Amino acid sequence: MISRSPWLYHFNSGGCNGCDIELIASIAPGFDLERLGCVLKGSPRHADILLVTGCVTKQAEKRLKRIYSQLAEKKIVIAIGSCALSGGAFRSSYNRAGPVDRIIPVDIYIPGCPPRPQAIIHGIKTALERL
Ligand code: SF4
Repeated sequence: MISRSPWLYHFNSGGCNGCDIELIASIAPGFDLERLGCVLKGSPRHADILLVTGCVTKQAEKRLKRIYSQLAEKKIVIAIGSCALSGGAFRSSYNRAGPVDRIIPVDIYIPGCPPRPQAIIHGIKTALERL
């Protein structure tokens, strides 16, 4: 049973934007993630759930740590896409610091390149049960 609406914060840590497009599609009226009470917020201080896409570049590493430290408790982190999970297409890049779980703790992994909106919604729904 979910007792309140979870708020989301999205951070692209350095990918091709394919996962970001699928995430936005999940929130748009076609798949309508908002029916679960989810709202995208502009600040991690207002969010319960952090959605991370991309392979985490060296440039993004420090920013990702800072965003995680600002996230509201319980700090649920969802890694979205192969790049976030293992480096994916950018696995051998000279500028990669990730995957995400090497930088911050990850609660839920959503594989795919990119994952479909159904998979993203399923992952977020799983996160709601942990809040
Ligand atoms: S997992 Fe695929 S779609 Fe997502 S950011 Fe990486 S290369 Fe792009």
